[in-house]
Amino acid sequence: MRIATFENAEKPAVGIVEGEQVLDLAAAFRNGGDPAGPQSVLELIAGGPKMLDNVRAVVQRATASSGDAQLWQPLSGVKLMAPIPQPVKNVFCVGRNYTLHIEEGARARGVPATFPPVPEFFSKPRTTIVGNDDDVRLDPAVTQKLDYEVELAIVIGPGGRDIKAAGASGHIFGYTILNDVSARDLQAAHGQWFKGKGLDTSGPIGPWIVTADEFGPPSGHAIMLRVNGETRQSSTTSDLLFGCEAIVEHLSKGMTLDAGDIIATGTPFGVALGMVPQRWLKDGDVIEAEIDGIGVLRNTVRAVR
Ligand code: MG
Repeated sequence: MRIATFENAEKPAVGIVEGEQVLDLAAAFRNGGDPAGPQSVLELIAGGPKMLDNVRAVVQRATASSGDAQLWQPLSGVKLMAPIPQPVKNVFCVGRNYTLHIEEGARARGVPATFPPVPEFFSKPRTTIVGNDDDVRLDPAVTQKLDYEVELAIVIGPGGRDIKAAGASGHIFGYTILNDVSARDLQAAHGQWFKGKGLDTSGPIGPWIVTADEFGPPSGHAIMLRVNGETRQSSTTSDLLFGCEAIVEHLSKGMTLDAGDIIATGTPFGVALGMVPQRWLKDGDVIEAEIDGIGVLRNTVRAVR
């Protein structure tokens, strides 16, 4: 199942995406005489397996019943928001998690490539989050070196602490795409990554969450990114140094993860930082981050004038 948040009368609403159509989930619940449907994607996730079963039944009815046809709208006619527009916490991220990307980063910084023995975690503030088709802000007074990073992002289902890798899949609700937009000059200047990864609109997420059962094993998915149609990144999630289950184990060690937490798993080779010459994002650039089994997350860079 593909679960989105879309703007409905200027308010966020839960949408179920099938093909080129989106179902207004709250209206589908009401049509079935049950007003108690989830009011947000966070509420849907927090409801656990019982809620998910309930949602599946409602979607099935809305698909089968011709009386429910008006609940479906063309996807092209709605404004998608980030699937979780306001997560409870910062977005967790893993840095340096694909071998070739580690090597390109080291080359660009003129240092030897080293490989982390454990995942390197950082976070992006909630104010970074935007959805599909939203603009990515570029303020030349703040950064001259804005870069892109396509990443597979885990969405946590049932929370927990000290989750073992072997049981981690039971804690993963689904997957989405995150573009970890990064100001490389700020990363370098501030000595760690938080500031350079934390600018407003530097965390496009979406276009929706694909549930774990539909996505299948998280390895083996093509992951790519285009700028103005030109492929810059092209890899597979099989090349992750730390896979999704290992990441959940490391992050939850002594630290509680909650339903709806988002963990971006790192980016493959091909960022602007590693190019010769480096080709930073500029005003008007259209970035398409794509993962096989999820879809395409599209955003446009807009310079502040
Ligand atoms: Mg990243």
